[in-house]
Amino acid sequence: MNPFDLTGRVAIVTGGNRGIGFGIARGLAAAGATLVIAARDAAKARDAVEALRATGAETSFVETDIVEQASCQRLAEAAVERHGRIDILVNNAGRALLKPPEDCTLDEWNAMLAGNLTGAFLCAQAVFPAMRDQGGGKIVNIGSLASVLGSRLGTAYAASKGGILQLTRSLAVSWGVHRIQVNAILPGYTNTDMTSMARATRQGFEEAVVARTPLGRWGEPADFAGLAVFLASSASDFITGTGIPVDGGYSIQL
Ligand code: NDP
Repeated sequence: MNPFDLTGRVAIVTGGNRGIGFGIARGLAAAGATLVIAARDAAKARDAVEALRATGAETSFVETDIVEQASCQRLAEAAVERHGRIDILVNNAGRALLKPPEDCTLDEWNAMLAGNLTGAFLCAQAVFPAMRDQGGGKIVNIGSLASVLGSRLGTAYAASKGGILQLTRSLAVSWGVHRIQVNAILPGYTNTDMTSMARATRQGFEEAVVARTPLGRWGEPADFAGLAVFLASSASDFITGTGIPVDGGYSIQL
């Protein structure tokens, strides 16, 4: 038996319509999983769903806003209605804000925590009954290097992503008894819509990331597929509560 095989497993990927989420969805699909893509933008999701179906993966889209509890509940219900079960949740949807802490408004702070941390909690809570009743499941939370490193311009972002790591550990502790494993992936700088503006406008930024990265390049969405498949599969059945960087070595040197 191939311990990385996901045939017959149903995976929800929030923010799976583009960027890192789409890279992860492709990896899970290649390993045999059925995909449920959850995001707000249906038009952007159409291309992702078509691309995944073209690989032979059963795929559906559920329009979801993870900051709304009812929307997260509907997502879990739709996944069970359409595909019969939920084995994997990838909490990937997120947003970024670069602002000095003294200029960050309360609304901006609250929106960052809601979009990056509360939404992941609500999705985990929504899938819990299905996973518990099935006898187990895998939750993969997408944190950031900002889960463990301070950020000069990303105070609210780093606070929310630090929270993701603690959410990961606490859910792992609470739900281990139900054979639900909860782990986090901590991406380094990656080439997606989230970073495109900073790459284009912050002089020297793109080169500085490359210079600090031992593997000498930015991350690409496909770089996250391998670890996501591992953490979603029975190959990782005795691993829970961890946060693993995928950053080309960015975080290992001074
Ligand atoms: P993108 O901006 O490219 O994509 C963000 C995704 O999240 C989109 O699919 C978007 O879909 C979805 N999303 C955002 N808000 C919501 C919401 N309220 N409800 C549902 N879906 C939502 O980002 P990346 O792919 O770069 O980032 C993915 C994850 O990786 C994020 O959590 C990010 O913080 C993290 N990360 C990224 C890094 C990078 O360098 N790119 C580095 C470290 C971590 P839609 O707009 O259709 O709702």
